[in-house]
Amino acid sequence: MNYGALSGIAERYGAKILFDESIARYTSFGIGGVCDVIVMPNSTGCAAELVSECRKSGIRYYIFGKCTNVLITDKGLRGVVILIGGEMSQIRRDGCRLVCDAGASLAKICNTARNEGLGGLEFAYGIPGSAGGALYMNAGAFGGEMKDVVVYCDYLDSDGIVKRMDKADMELSYRHSIFNGSDKVILSVCFELYEDDSDEIFAKMSEIMQKRRDKQPLEYPSAGSTFKRPEGYFAAKLIEDSGLKGYTSGGAQVSEKHSGFVINKGNATFGDVVEVIDHVREKVFADSGVRLEPEVMIIE
Ligand SMILES: Cc1cc2nc3c(=O)[nH]c(=O)nc-3n(C[C@H](O)[C@H](O)[C@H](O)COP(=O)(O)OP(=O)(O)OC[C@H]3O[C@@H](n4cnc5c(N)ncnc54)[C@H](O)[C@@H]3O)c2cc1C
Repeated sequence: MNYGALSGIAERYGAKILFDESIARYTSFGIGGVCDVIVMPNSTGCAAELVSECRKSGIRYYIFGKCTNVLITDKGLRGVVILIGGEMSQIRRDGCRLVCDAGASLAKICNTARNEGLGGLEFAYGIPGSAGGALYMNAGAFGGEMKDVVVYCDYLDSDGIVKRMDKADMELSYRHSIFNGSDKVILSVCFELYEDDSDEIFAKMSEIMQKRRDKQPLEYPSAGSTFKRPEGYFAAKLIEDSGLKGYTSGGAQVSEKHSGFVINKGNATFGDVVEVIDHVREKVFADSGVRLEPEVMIIE
């Protein structure tokens, strides 16, 4: 495959483009093989051009944000991985709104909100993803979710046109949005917040982070909760009831600290994690009749 045109776009924008690069160092799981091309757009215009070029040239491409909700094959990915992350992370205040590039991390957005005295996003502090990835997943925690704070987003549609979508049209529900499985690429996200005292915001953020540290195995690489919450149950409780706390395959393990997390204890392979996920699903179904659905996106 000739990636000359993509290199040209990256060069013109001053964006990073890497060839034959392992994606493991960019994923929160620390797993994933050598990919043909990884490119990191540094502006919404750059991202839009890269995607349009891939589509025009028939090049297979993948869109990721901070890779904190993905498990990527050890074989790596053929084609182009477009990482909409920290290189594309401008944040602009507009009244009580923050308009954020899709690659801005939730940490940066939450800290900006705190510094600006804008409340409402505290629940998202500690979710390690990007604005785009969070909207895609309707990420949530501690009683809040993206749906509560998003006003609109700008996205690239399948015809290569940048459009705006209001929240009402996003079909946001538990870990779901209209973007799931679509070819729309989120370029920026606007959050509606409210004026509040910075110290109080900071106190709420700190409390939430402490709860995460107390309950979650943050000392190990993972993709957060491995399974979605099944209606009427808690995944972690079902897994624990099936005696699977600490269940291990190779370097992958059901966390002893929080059974809802599969962690990389060290040198876990893609196959190790998949084996743990499959075993957990089978055993929990056999014991309780509940089908656990992975929240983490498995990419192979
Ligand atoms: C320790 C830990 C704790 C976590 N806690 C939580 C939690 O409390 N709540 C929660 O909801 N999640 C949690 N997560 C999971 C994850 O952080 C979130 O789902 C996050 O929103 C994913 O964002 P990302 O940028 O990493 O997306 P990625 O993992 O890069 O991508 C996820 C999906 O979004 C798509 N995507 C990403 N960016 C775009 C874009 N710009 N346009 C179109 N599609 C895009 C990708 O194609 C992929 O399908 C946790 C993860 C970890 C590691």
